[in-house]
Amino acid sequence: MWVVQVQPQQSMYIGVIKISSEQFTIEQFYKYLSEGQLMAGKCEQCGKPHLPPRPLCDKCLSQKFKWIKISKEGKLLTYTTIYVAPQQFQAMVPYSVGIVQLERELKIPGMIMNLSENQLKIGMKLEIDFNSCKITRSWPHWPRYCFRKPKQE
Ligand SMILES: [Zn+2]
Repeated sequence: MWVVQVQPQQSMYIGVIKISSEQFTIEQFYKYLSEGQLMAGKCEQCGKPHLPPRPLCDKCLSQKFKWIKISKEGKLLTYTTIYVAPQQFQAMVPYSVGIVQLERELKIPGMIMNLSENQLKIGMKLEIDFNSCKITRSWPHWPRYCFRKPKQE
């Protein structure tokens, strides 16, 4: 599982690599999330999408990206249910965290809301929710979204 490291003072330079004026950073990623949009950085050279975005393509080392909007729907790849949580989540136990497969081979981890362990199935459809997960805001190492069952089902 990847861990998002938030660096509020991230400089315009990472090593000697200059980042273009439109930043493909975690901060901009979160800004889009706060607007209800899941955005990935797509490499303009090789086409590989990065989620979360990064300033340097790990496939072709290009620094040219454009933002692409990613569908909020995905499938549950794997999950684990937490019974002993960090203090700020203790009131929520048990809860589950999972990795959801999105379009374009993208995968993201997150908390699964309102589904108990016996309701979860590998391969089930889940949707990313941006509005009802504010409880995680106090923990900067966790993304500000969660997964839930799609509303139409
Ligand atoms: Zn690339």
